[in-house]
Amino acid sequence: MALRLVLMGPPGSGKGTQAKILAEREGLAHLSTGDILRGAMASGSELGLKVKEVVEAGQLVSDDVLYGVIEESLKKLGPKMGFILDGFPRNLRQAEFLEAILEKLGIGIDAAVLLDFPEESLIKRLSGRRVCSRCAKEYHIDFLPPKIEGRCDRCGGELYRREDDEPEKIATRLRVYNDVTLQMVDFYRDRSLLIRVDADGSIQDVVQRVLDSIGNRAKEKRL
Ligand code: AMP
Repeated sequence: MALRLVLMGPPGSGKGTQAKILAEREGLAHLSTGDILRGAMASGSELGLKVKEVVEAGQLVSDDVLYGVIEESLKKLGPKMGFILDGFPRNLRQAEFLEAILEKLGIGIDAAVLLDFPEESLIKRLSGRRVCSRCAKEYHIDFLPPKIEGRCDRCGGELYRREDDEPEKIATRLRVYNDVTLQMVDFYRDRSLLIRVDADGSIQDVVQRVLDSIGNRAKEKRL
């Protein structure tokens, strides 16, 4: 049976990394609204131009803009495909929208995984993050440095710091997360879909914790 997951967590909790690995291991489509928006910004499309200022300021893009993107992506996948949603939903209204759109497609999510991570460490992670301008592979100047400073190991592309990883933007993003995104936790708890995972550990340890917790849930619910 196709697995359908929502992955939630504060900026810097490793959401994107976890989502990529989980999607690959479990054969799921990986839908990242952050990646979609950054791709649109890099290509200079109408969508990219519309969201650039807001994304770079670390604020949330308006719900209506994201609804079109998500609806189109989910319809393209079709009702049989498993997926992992990374970065969407990001507030209560988006969670309600997602529920409604999936209902229309005759499907629902199996679990909403919340990555728990201590706030002090998030700032360190985000401010040291670097991304390849060519292939989007992520590095960290202390924890996962490239072999040659400023260059991607995989494709040789130049590494850059995301505009929204500047210190004052990080503060904004953490505030938005605490004020807005955390409202969704109750939404998923009420539907018995919430799974909390301690994300303070190595990438592989956290992947295993997520898979174990989903596996246990699957046994309970006989997914
Ligand atoms: P992320 O890569 O998930 O950290 O997303 C980067 C930025 O894209 C966020 O700080 C927002 O500006 C924007 N963004 C991504 N997903 C959403 C969403 N579901 N709702 C609103 N804005 C979003």
